Amino acid sequence: MIISALKSNDPKDQRSPIHSDTLSALINTGAEIFFEEGIGDGINTSDNEFKKAGLKAAPRSECISKSDLIITNQALGFEEISLIKSGSSLIGMVNPFSNQELINTCAEKNINLISMEFIPRITRAQKMDVLSSQANLAGYAAVIESAKHLSTALPMMMTAAGTLKPARVFVIGVGVAGLQAIATAKRLGARVDAFDTRDVVEEQVNSLGAKFVKIDLGETGQTDQGYAKELTPEQVQKQKDLQSDVCARSDIVITTAQLFGRPAPQLIDSNTIEKMKPGSVIFDMAVESGGNVEGSVADEVIINNGVKIIGISNLASSVSNHASLALSNNYNHWITDFYNKEENNINFDFEDEIIKSSVLVFNGKIVNERFK
Ligand code: NAD
Repeated sequence: MIISALKSNDPKDQRSPIHSDTLSALINTGAEIFFEEGIGDGINTSDNEFKKAGLKAAPRSECISKSDLIITNQALGFEEISLIKSGSSLIGMVNPFSNQELINTCAEKNINLISMEFIPRITRAQKMDVLSSQANLAGYAAVIESAKHLSTALPMMMTAAGTLKPARVFVIGVGVAGLQAIATAKRLGARVDAFDTRDVVEEQVNSLGAKFVKIDLGETGQTDQGYAKELTPEQVQKQKDLQSDVCARSDIVITTAQLFGRPAPQLIDSNTIEKMKPGSVIFDMAVESGGNVEGSVADEVIINNGVKIIGISNLASSVSNHASLALSNNYNHWITDFYNKEENNINFDFEDEIIKSSVLVFNGKIVNERFK
C-alpha cells in the first residue's frame, strides 16, 4: 500500500498531517510513505528529516495520483480529486457540512472518503478525535491571543508601585476549547467566570477554580454525542440579556459556543458590546462557523465602542507544531486500527462504530445518511 501525506492547500493552515515524533506508527504498517515536498515548512521540519526516517518526497500531483491512501488536513478540489486512482481512500478533515460536492465527486470517482470530523464520541475513538485535539489547542491560543490585545496584565501583582488587579475572563461555552481556555486563563492568574447551556459542566468549571455563572434558560440539554441542543430564539435572547452584566465587568470574553453541523448561535450583540469597558477584548472562537459575536470578522480586529473583537481562522495552527503532533496521532490511530497487515489494505468493517460513522463514501456510494 502507498500512503501519501499532503501539505495544507490553505496558506493560513501551517499544520502538517505528519510529524517527526509520530512517524513510527505509520512506518510500522510497512506501507510505502510519500509526502508532499515542503510539508513541514509550517512546523520547522525539513524534507530531509522525513527522508531520514525513510519517507519519500514527491510533488503534490504525484502524491495524489499514485497513492492508495491520502492524508490531508483540508478538502481537495474537483481537479485534484480527479487525479486520485479509483478505489483509493482519502482521509482527513474535509469539512463535509459545506462540501457536498466533494462527497458526490468521491462517490462518482469511486474514492473512499473518511471524514475525521465524524469520529464518534465514544471512549475508544477519543485518540482519533481531531475536533477535540484541535479545539483544546485553540482554547489555549484564544487566551494567549486575547492577552496580547489587552493593555493590562492577567495576574494580580502586588508591587511597590501599586497593586494591579487580576484580569477578569468570561468563557462562554465550556466544551473542549472552553475548558482549556479556562485552565489557561487560570494558570495566567486571571479570575474566570464561565457559562454553558449544558449544566453538566458546572462541576468541571468549579474543579478548574473558575465560577460557573448560573443562568436559568429553562429546558436545554445535550445530544447523545455530548453536543449542545439548539436553543429557541427566546432562550437565546434571555441568555444575551442575563449574561451581559458578566460581559460588562470582564476584560476578556471568549466565546466558543458551537452547534455540530449548524451555524453557531449569536450570543453577543451590540447592546452587550456597548456595556463593555473600552479596551476589553472579545475573542470569537466560532468566527468560522457563523460567529457568536455580532460584527466579528475572521482574521481581523474590529473595534466597536472601544472593544476589540477578534476572530482568527485556523486558530490551532498558531501552535502548529503541537497541533500537527496531535493531528498526526489522530490520523495514525485511525489508520493503524483499521490497517490489515496480511492483506496490506484498510479493513472497512461497517460493523465497527468508528468506520460506520467516519466513512462517508465507500465503494462508489455515499454511505452516511446525512449526505445521501
Ligand atoms: P462544541 O464545540 O460543539 O461546542 C462548544 C461548547 O459550546 C459546548 O460545551 C456547548 O454546550 C456550548 N454551547 C452551545 N450553545 C451554547 C450557548 N447558547 N451558550 C453557551 N454555551 C453553548 O462542543 P465540544 O467542545 O466539541 O464538546 C461538547 C462535549 O462533548 C464536551 O462535554 C466534551 O467533553 C464532550 N466530548 C466527548 C468526547 C468523547 O466522549 N469521546 C469527545 C469530545 C468531546
